[in-house]
This record gives sequence, C-alpha cells and structure tokens, in this order.
Amino acid sequence: MEVAGVGLHTGNQVAVRLTPAPAFTGFVFRRTDLGDFDVPAAPHAVARVSYATTLMRQGVMVSTVEHLLAALVGSGVDNCIIEIDGMEVPILDGSAEGWVDLIESAGVRELEAARQFLRIRRPVDVVESHRSIRIVPADEYRISCHIDFDHPVVGSQRRSISITNGEFGPELAAARTFGFAHEVEALRQAGLIQGGSTENAIVLTPHGGMLNEVPLRWPDEFVRHKMIDIVGDLALFGMPILGHVIADRAGHALHTQLVAKVVRDESAWEIVSQPVTEAAALLS
Ligand SMILES: [Zn+2]
Repeated sequence: MEVAGVGLHTGNQVAVRLTPAPAFTGFVFRRTDLGDFDVPAAPHAVARVSYATTLMRQGVMVSTVEHLLAALVGSGVDNCIIEIDGMEVPILDGSAEGWVDLIESAGVRELEAARQFLRIRRPVDVVESHRSIRIVPADEYRISCHIDFDHPVVGSQRRSISITNGEFGPELAAARTFGFAHEVEALRQAGLIQGGSTENAIVLTPHGGMLNEVPLRWPDEFVRHKMIDIVGDLALFGMPILGHVIADRAGHALHTQLVAKVVRDESAWEIVSQPVTEAAALLS
C-alpha cells in the first residue's frame, strides 16, 4: 500500500509504502531513493526535535516521522519497514488519520512470536521549568496530557486515554497539527513549513480566531494532536509500552528526552512477554 503527498517542512512530494517486517524489527525507515538505506526509529537516531521529530543515521535523515509512527503504534503494529523515496514523511491532512486508514486497508498480520512489551518499573521524568513529562508504572499504555496556550480557541485542555484499548483510532487519529499565523513568516524564512497550508494544519490568528474555513474536528483537537505526537515520539522505544505517560505542556524535545532517559536507566524498565493484562483485555 502506498501513499504520496508533500512534506510539511520541505514541501517535497514523497511516496511512502508500508511493508511487513519480521518479529522484533520494530520500525525502520528505508530510503528507497538512496539505495534502500535504513534509518531505524530508535532513541539514538534522534537528530532534531524542533517543530517535528527527525531521525538520522550516518548523515541520512528522515523527518516528521511522528504521525506515521503514532498511527502504527495506535493500530497495534509492532514491526514495519517504511519505504520512503525522500527525506520527509508526507503531512497528509496534518493528522494521523490517513496513516491509520492505510494500515487498516493493508491489514495487520499476527506473527508467530510472543508479543514483547517494555514495562515501566519506576517513575522517570524530564522537567524543564514549567514543562514536564513523566512515565510511571501501569498495567496498560495510558497517556494523560495537558496543554495551555494563551489563545481563546485553545486555552487549557486536558485529556487522558488508553492506547492499549484501541482508543487511538477513534479518539486521536483525526486531530490535526496546529500553528500560529504570527510565526508563519519566520518559519518560512527559516526554511520550514514550505509545504504548510490550511489544508494540513490549523492556523491560529492573533485576533483569537483561525484561518481555516473548516471547523475544528473536536473543541479540544489541540490536546488530542499533542497526544498523537507523544505516541509517535514514544514509538522510539521500539516496542509497545506498559506505562502511564503524564505530559504537561511538553513537546518533541521533552518526549524524546524522556525516551532516552528511560532507555539509559535499566532499573526503570524490563521487557515482558504477553502479560496477564493482555489476556484480560481480550476477554472484556
Ligand atoms: Zn504533530
């Protein structure tokens, strides 16, 4: 299955094909335009975290990976080779919905291997003045998120959902990315958002409105999108998570720092195969 579209930041037209991978592969981006060069979605591959998450191996980059990775995790996929013929994942409509639809139409195959989870054993946090992200032990993968923007359309929004229970598709996937009109010019000058438009982002105006002519998909679409970003960035763990993430005004930098900090501290996690909670979830 293939999807094509423009990259938000580069503006380049790029095609992506999702192909099956054996157990324990995790997620690997394969640059088909560079002789099938592989860039793994792993914490040590994080190269840039401003306005999107960019991965790099030996100088080869893949950027804006977070919405596609979130869709894979949210759809229960643990292993996938993502073939891409350019350096930036297409932004589609700014949400993860197109990727979830693509995965659904391709279908998900069960592998003959026990599913492994990264289980959080003790709390780990990253705090930067008034921003923070924390992960604590839990029997499921849950995300609780709070954002606070001084803009009447956004304001303070909070939401908590279980990723384990399949809530990603219906509750988060369609939430679009957002930005502020007063930042547009500076970002363009910096070579970013070359492919950005109201077709792929909610653009908030200084006067308390938005440029988009279509309505919000939910009043709290903004916090829902932030949760997509968290799921996407935490996909860098490379396996499904048993833990509760509590984010307060965090962003890509904090999300990826949390992953790196957890991975470094081997006393904070363990790998478990098909825990009892999984069986319970199937029965309910
Ligand atoms: Zn995003």
